[in-house]
Order: sequence, then C-alpha cells, then structure tokens
Amino acid sequence: MRDEEWLATLFYEVWDRKFSDVKKRNNVLVRWKGRWKNKFGHIKRLKNKDTEIVVNSLFKDERVPKEVIELTIAHEIVHYMHGFNSPYEKRFRYPHQGGVVERELRNRGYNELVNFEKSWSKSEWPKILGERNNRDGVVRVKQLRSSFRLFL
Ligand SMILES: [Zn+2]
Repeated sequence: MRDEEWLATLFYEVWDRKFSDVKKRNNVLVRWKGRWKNKFGHIKRLKNKDTEIVVNSLFKDERVPKEVIELTIAHEIVHYMHGFNSPYEKRFRYPHQGGVVERELRNRGYNELVNFEKSWSKSEWPKILGERNNRDGVVRVKQLRSSFRLFL
C-alpha cells in the first residue's frame, strides 16, 4: 500500500542511490498532498526552515507507475540542490531556467525515465484522471492542454 511510510522509503532510496553527493543541510520531509491534475509534486520551505517535498496524492493509485513517483521525487531533489526552497545558494534565477532540471535528471541516469514520463503523462495520466472523474467526481478534467506544467 502506498502510505506515508512507503513514500518516505522511496524518497530515502532515491536520495541514497542518485543524490548521495547532495548533502542534506536541513530537515527534508516528504508527504502525500493534494489531488492535482496538472501538478505532480512541489517543494516548499516551511516556517521552521525545514524543507517539505510533496507528491500528488492521486499517485497512490496503483496504476501510476512507481517510476513516475520516483522521478517526481528526483525532480524536487534537483530543485533542492539548485537552492530552491533549500539552504543551498540559488544557482539560477528561475527553477526551470533553460531546462536545468531535466538536464540534471538526464545526467543522473534518468534519461529513459524522463522520456517515458513525458509520454505516460500525455497518454495514460489523462485516462486515469478521466476514470476517476467518472467514478467519484473528485477530479474534473475538461481538457488537458499538451503544454501543461507537470512540476512546480
Ligand atoms: Zn520543478
């Protein structure tokens, strides 16, 4: 079951396996939050200076590949190392400037997964959202624009 513990375990695995060179300079927490159709996760600085990484709660759905959740976590860790909502010095003016996040992900071995995630988010994710909409009316999807932002 994809509970908080499952997510935390995946988070530590991703950090250990792919970002072991990135030192945690404050407490970094991870949790499920939100039910977003066009946002997979985000990173934020809390009032107590901890960093919080959240992953879309809709990804608890087993039809969402674990790899997509992994990439969401990795994406937010890249923001952390680039100094966005973390104690690191900001390396860029904007978090996605010139494709810096994607480049970092590809450099860290996520090349194929970045490609997979792009096609999955276009072909499969809207289906899952659509079925949810039919089933319980929680998520309403009019039209997913092809250019919508996946990560914030
Ligand atoms: Zn982002």
